[in-house]
Amino acid sequence: MTAPADGGADADVRLRRMPKVELHCHLEGCVRPGTFLELARAHGVPLPTTDPERVYAYTDMASFLAVFERLAAAVVTRDDVRRISYEALVDAARGSAVVYREMFVNPTLHPTLPYDELLAGITEGVHEARRDTGIVTRLIPSVYRAHSPAAAADMVRAVARGDRDLVVGIGMDGDETAGPPASFTEAYALARDAGLQVTAHAGERFGAEEVRTCLDLLGCTRIDHGYGLLQDAELLARVRDTGTHVTCAWLSTTYNYRGPADTHPIRLLHDAGVRISLGSDDPALGGTDLAGDYRAVSARLGLTADDLARQNHAALDAAWLPAEEKAAVRARLEDAGG
Ligand SMILES: [Zn+2]
Repeated sequence: MTAPADGGADADVRLRRMPKVELHCHLEGCVRPGTFLELARAHGVPLPTTDPERVYAYTDMASFLAVFERLAAAVVTRDDVRRISYEALVDAARGSAVVYREMFVNPTLHPTLPYDELLAGITEGVHEARRDTGIVTRLIPSVYRAHSPAAAADMVRAVARGDRDLVVGIGMDGDETAGPPASFTEAYALARDAGLQVTAHAGERFGAEEVRTCLDLLGCTRIDHGYGLLQDAELLARVRDTGTHVTCAWLSTTYNYRGPADTHPIRLLHDAGVRISLGSDDPALGGTDLAGDYRAVSARLGLTADDLARQNHAALDAAWLPAEEKAAVRARLEDAGG
């Protein structure tokens, strides 16, 4: 790989050590391969291979989602959830200097685990990770698009009734060819009525129309991926002018974009003045981490360390964290000169 945009080894170290705010990462996509193998064995989940190097192999979006669903099926007990949450967060804090993360989880992918048990397991892992590394975390239970609108509405009701110490909003993810965003209008209305923030994956592979639906019909105040915005100049300008934050992911673009660097969607959203930040999305499945993604966008797309430091501040501005805690995280960014 070529060197980062503004230098060699020193710039590389700065990118890795830069304190990071991450708004786009999925709990189930952070499970260490060895942990997945252990959990699958313990719970009798059949696997095509027991080789940790190949257990996450996928070739396209469909096989990626098959791996993702198999992974979710191996996470069965509250202690499984505690363990994967803890490992996900300490890996981010120690490997990539993440100081604040908002993390998606798909409750409907864990049908045998009641929502309150799932949340209790995550909460234990979050507290243990904070004790050991200082990482601050919030959660975004996420609608899985391949599941029904009724399941999504039920999930949101459980979230609204449940403990809200860590839970700040609702998201939506999964296969963009499944369940159009408009079909989840009820779930999103329930979430907003319950005082939850709302975001959604949209425009990852498809165009701007889904992004428009998520903004106008679902009431989203952030968008995850959002690359389809580049197909609609008017909507792109609106997102820029309203300061709507878009969470991008290098990993996703490595399998959804094949063009040259100067028309790469992350580069173009950055150049258009949209407030964006980088998330690792599913780092364990991609065999990467957020620091590696920073290096990739620097080396491949020419974003500088200063650009990326500014993105961390933009992400924190858009974070769903109370003002006092936000100020404490901002101090950690500024202490490190990030
Ligand atoms: Zn995602």
